[in-house]
Amino acid sequence: MPDTQVPDVQVPDAQVPDVQVIGPREVPLGGIRAMTVRRTLPHRDRSFVGAWCFVDHYGPDHVGSGSGGMDVAPHPHTGLQTVSWLFDGEIEHRDSGGAHGLVRPGEVNLMTAGAGIAHSEVSTPATRTLHGVQLWVALPADALGAPRGFEHWAVPVDELPGGAGTARVFVGTLPGLGSSPVTVHTPLVGAQLDLVPGARMQVPVDPTHEHALLVDRGRVQFEGVSLERGDLGCVEAGAAELRIVAAGDAPVRALLLGGAPFEEEIVMWWNFVGRSHEDIATARADWEAGSARFGVVPGYAGPVTRIPAPALPGVRLRPRGRRGRH
Ligand code: MN
Repeated sequence: MPDTQVPDVQVPDAQVPDVQVIGPREVPLGGIRAMTVRRTLPHRDRSFVGAWCFVDHYGPDHVGSGSGGMDVAPHPHTGLQTVSWLFDGEIEHRDSGGAHGLVRPGEVNLMTAGAGIAHSEVSTPATRTLHGVQLWVALPADALGAPRGFEHWAVPVDELPGGAGTARVFVGTLPGLGSSPVTVHTPLVGAQLDLVPGARMQVPVDPTHEHALLVDRGRVQFEGVSLERGDLGCVEAGAAELRIVAAGDAPVRALLLGGAPFEEEIVMWWNFVGRSHEDIATARADWEAGSARFGVVPGYAGPVTRIPAPALPGVRLRPRGRRGRH
């Protein structure tokens, strides 16, 4: 598509990918403290960007004494990795693999569920503002039985060329920029980009990956398409660089997510990822029975010890693939 606002980065039309813009929907998380998130994935028309299968964006939320913030009691996961990334605030993580740590801005925490894990997440008493994302990565079939894991890494800040801003690569590799050591099971990238007002970037990317840009603040032109705060703009594989322009007079903060197209179909329900309705029904029954499959979260001090699973719907859960449900 032609882009008259950024003539210096025009490329022939044939090389310009279309952008699928997914606007966020507000979802109350429930739990002990009320918290609402902006969810873009999964969406009716799109299940994945690479193996990224879940994108919740929240805040900035004011956290007063005893009000607001996050207090999620122990709950299970299967078949996925969670990636916690904060812009502001601090969250205390505990899981049944024995990990206990703090999630802080600029430091990635990646938890691998494998066959089963349970964890709790609570914003710390010192937190005044909570602002970040919760991302899930679908595990491929050969990693569904992976052992429980938890990795933490303080991400270095890379300078972008031309004084455009900075990048923090928290998962995978951005060509010519940073690389993250955390374990993933399919080719994947995740990075925070901070751009100065008016910056015009051509970000080098792996052309075998599809990508999405999630805008946290500022206004962005992504491949010539305007994105507002909370929008997820998605492009197919094929491009070796992505054109990102900080279009307003304010700085831009955005997350670039990408990966090799994930060709498996998954069934995703509540906190579980599996391959069939039966996988999910079994995981639910195991959690409700207190099975060792999920283990015990030590040290969680909240008023309830676990979050019960909701009832399964009265119909069979359907698999979803790259283009949505079937
Ligand atoms: Mn969780």
